[in-house]
Order: sequence, then C-alpha cells, then structure tokens
Amino acid sequence: MLVDADRLHIAIQKSGRLSDASRGLLKDAGLRIQGGRNELTARVENFPADLMMVRDDDIPTFVGDGVCEFGIVGGNVLEEFVLGRPDAGLEVVAPLGFGRCSLKLAAPLDAVYDGPLSLAGTRVATSYPRIVQRFLDDHGVTATIVEMNGAVELAPRLRIAGYICDLVSTGATLEANGLRPVADVFDSEAVLIRTRQNIGEARDELATRLLNRISGVLATKESKYIMLNAPADALREITAILPGAEAPTVLPLHGRPGHFAVHAVCQESVFWETLQKLKSAGASAILVLPIEKMML
Ligand code: ATP
Ligand code: ZN
Repeated sequence: MLVDADRLHIAIQKSGRLSDASRGLLKDAGLRIQGGRNELTARVENFPADLMMVRDDDIPTFVGDGVCEFGIVGGNVLEEFVLGRPDAGLEVVAPLGFGRCSLKLAAPLDAVYDGPLSLAGTRVATSYPRIVQRFLDDHGVTATIVEMNGAVELAPRLRIAGYICDLVSTGATLEANGLRPVADVFDSEAVLIRTRQNIGEARDELATRLLNRISGVLATKESKYIMLNAPADALREITAILPGAEAPTVLPLHGRPGHFAVHAVCQESVFWETLQKLKSAGASAILVLPIEKMML
C-alpha cells in the first residue's frame, strides 16, 4: 500500500480523544471511510486515499518521514516532537478547532506558588519534557524534569515530584487529585499537518484536491449566509456591518422601489449584537442560514 504513488495516506489517532472529530472532519470533506475502528488502515471509497489509524504520538513521525502525506494530531504532541526534531520534514496546514486543551503547570492545593521562580530546585513531572524545559528556560529557572508517560497527576502524592505539568480541559482530574492549576504552559488544539517530503506529481495533485475540500469545511464552520432587506440609503452602512463579507449581492425588491435585498456570505461568527446593529441601520427581514458546503 505504501508504494502506491497514486493514493494519499492520512494518519489519524486510532482511538482516543481526537479520533471521532478527525474522522468527522474527513467525512465532512466528503470522504466515505470503509472499515471498522479496529483496523489499522481503512480505505476511502470515493477518494484515492487510505487512513492509517495509529497512536497519536506516532503521527508526526509518519508525516515527517513521508510515510503519510497528511496527519491530524494535537498541537501539544506536535510541539513536543518538533522541539526534539526541528528539521522534521513536516508543516502545519491549519488549526482544526477541536481537541482544545491546555498544558498546565499544577501544584498541590497547599503549595505556595508565586510564579515560575517558585519552581527553582523542584521536580516537575510531565509527559512533555521538552515543552516544560522551554518554559523553564524562558523564565530562567532550573528544575528537574521527571518524565512520566501516564498518571502524571499522581506524582505529587507519590512524592515523585512537587509539581506536575499536564493536559487539562476541565480541571476535574486535577481537583480530584488535590491539585490546582497555577500557570498556562501551552494552549493546544488539533492541527492538520502535511509532509514536506517530495510526494510526486500525482499525489501532489490529490493533496491539493483534499486541501481544497478541507479548507472548504473549515471555512463553512464559522460562515453563515445572511439575507436581509434594506432601503437604498442604508446599504452603505449595512454592508459595512456585515462581518467578513466581501462584495455582497444587492438585488432590487420587486414592487418596492428604493428597497433592496442584500445577500452575503459572512466568514466570521454572526452574533445577536450584529443583527441588532443591522436592524438599527435600517435592515428588516434578516435571515441567517447555515452553509452546508463551500469551495473557495
Ligand atoms: P494514544 O493511545 O493515541 O497515544 P493518548 O492517550 O496519548 O492516546 P488522548 O488522551 O486520546 O491521547 O488525547 C489525544 C489528544 O487529545 C491530546 O494529545 C490532546 O491534544 C487532546 N486533548 C483534548 N483534551 C484533552 C484532555 N482533557 N486531556 C488530554 N488530552 C486532551
Ligand atoms: Zn499518545
């Protein structure tokens, strides 16, 4: 399969926090994925691509080495990898808006923490030694990093370390272990990465097709289609208010001289306040519709 010059290979997490959303993104891009979740690979029925379902930690290696042309991985995992291999042959294509979490420094509830200098001479347990080392370096602090691959939050209780640095989304796990977050070390979300290795013309073309679809999906997530009616003298103000809309369509309203329908794709979130502003500027019959597909 790997020698197939005319197919793409996309690495996603096999099972874990990013799996569903990663598959979801590819499905939204129109890829019909064959096969169950227990396989290591899955064929895409209607696009020349195969999915490789692997541990998230292996995804940057696969993409960097060119075994897979694309991968979806947590920004945290990618950052840790790239700090160890700055010349890895990969690049970030786009942040994906899911898998948001934050790598936080946490301390036992009764510990005093007055900023990074409090870490001097202590031990910090983490699965992200390079990111934590950079944080220490940035603050000119020397501490010992204790690398752990799991159950990091147990380290203070086991007296392995005084502090930990771990991924947090709600903070419930920290709290359950008598810890509190004291500093943000790295904010993360899932990212789409692509290889920098030469993949040949055929796959380059496929890559462009896939990227067009994915950027369409990402753009659609935020975008809305707005329709409203407005008198001629309000058009200038109204079009200025529409968020992220280039060149709206303006059509005369039949039977209402001096009144127009305005249609626009807004590429930013449309809030209630925006609608209120549009109304105050003279707009009426305002409709905001989701966009199902878009190709930019
Ligand atoms: P694997 O078996 O693939 O190695 P894992 O146990 O390392 O899985 P998961 O716990 O499934 O990884 O998390 C995958 C990614 O999901 C993380 O690297 C991170 O980017 C993201 N994530 C989002 N929220 C959280 C959270 N609350 N805790 C941990 N990771 C989170
Ligand atoms: Zn992992």
